[in-house]
Amino acid sequence: MSQKYWNEQIETAPREQLDKMQLERLQKTVKHVYDNVPLYRERMDAAGVKPEDVKTLDDICRLPFTSKQDLRDTYPYGMFAVPMEDVVRLHASSGTTGKQIVVGYTQNDLDIWDEICARALVAAGGTKADKVHVSYGYGLFTGGLGLHGGASKLGATCIPVSSGNTARQITILQDFGSDILCCTPSYAMYIGEEVEKAGIDSSKLPLRAGIFGAEPWTEEMRRQIEKKLNIKAYDIYGLTEIMGPGVSYECECQKGMHVNEDHFIIEIINPDTGMPVPDGEQGEIVFSCITKEAFPLLRFRTKDIGVITHEKCECGRTFVRMSKPRGRTDDMLIIRGVNVFPSQIETVVLRMGYAPNYQLIVDRVNNLDTLEVRLEMTPELFSDVTSELEATQRNIANELKNLLGVSAKVTLVAPGSITRSEGKAVRVIDHRKLHD
Ligand code: ADP
Ligand code: ZN
Repeated sequence: MSQKYWNEQIETAPREQLDKMQLERLQKTVKHVYDNVPLYRERMDAAGVKPEDVKTLDDICRLPFTSKQDLRDTYPYGMFAVPMEDVVRLHASSGTTGKQIVVGYTQNDLDIWDEICARALVAAGGTKADKVHVSYGYGLFTGGLGLHGGASKLGATCIPVSSGNTARQITILQDFGSDILCCTPSYAMYIGEEVEKAGIDSSKLPLRAGIFGAEPWTEEMRRQIEKKLNIKAYDIYGLTEIMGPGVSYECECQKGMHVNEDHFIIEIINPDTGMPVPDGEQGEIVFSCITKEAFPLLRFRTKDIGVITHEKCECGRTFVRMSKPRGRTDDMLIIRGVNVFPSQIETVVLRMGYAPNYQLIVDRVNNLDTLEVRLEMTPELFSDVTSELEATQRNIANELKNLLGVSAKVTLVAPGSITRSEGKAVRVIDHRKLHD
């Protein structure tokens, strides 16, 4: 029997109850880090804030921010708030943007992580009768073991495939009859392409839903994956520093991801001033952990750009919703003074009928930034007539210029020539950074 919520009482709790719970848990966590993490004690002392000063949820503004740099400076264990003997697991960030950082979990932290991933699975229609196929990488990366824990908690049949060996993934989808697929959206797209290539009719596969996250993806990409695999695709968000996947999750309404507010507090701030911005306004996403024991971060600046809304969701969940992050401030390209996110380019090329197989090559020639969009032709749009190719390239370049205000050189390349990703896709090659 399909259930609507994993934890109805919490997921649909009235706002006042959530606020009260958050305040109590925040107060407890602030005391915990003040007593156990030297960096927090020093910062709070310097700011003249004591744990007792947190009297309302708004007082969170008085607490110090934590940055990725703080985690690098205290690497490996400087931010751990419990003795190592209480830490039962370590994970590390995948190092997409620089040196990796290491995080720890107590048994209680892991139990909570399982719980929030079970909520995400149920929100995507998962039940204990389902076979959950986990193709996120297992290992230090949080994707694999995170969803694995959620599927096990739900009581589903977990298939711990991990990433890679796409032919085998497809055999398992067919022979084991996976119902729900969990992986990065770019890997889902790749699996979809290979299913198609193998001449398998995806409507004959039992697969009915996918839970995809760990990297930015667009609504256009969602539609392509849904079509290729004949499933409903759900978004899931998380980051190693805060927990891993499951910090927020999509419900059937798919109008933003519900933040698990009994464990995390989300704020949106202006990245330049650090001041909070109101609901509906875009800014940098900041998270505080309010139940974590081993690695509880206060006001961690994610560098992800998003928007939140407290408006009621039709699914009945009362947790605040965050938008799909459009990318990180780190990923934002500044091309001759114009700000561009790879996801905006993705939207344009997908709308024009291409697949999300592209790469952005940025360089600086004679002190001028250059952007090249390498985009795969699809077999349908394939042409080897040079004049046609040139016209199409110009057409796409014009579209990018119109919509994003940036001039780019568009190069169409042969189908299948851009390396596929089994985890997080590498979309940008910035030669400017390599020269610096
Ligand atoms: P790393 O920082 O090394 O990539 P993580 O695996 O912890 O390591 O990545 C977390 C980041 O992945 C988030 O901060 C965010 O930028 C991105 N991310 C995770 N889930 C999503 C999602 N559903 N949509 C967009 N971006 C996401
Ligand atoms: Zn909802």
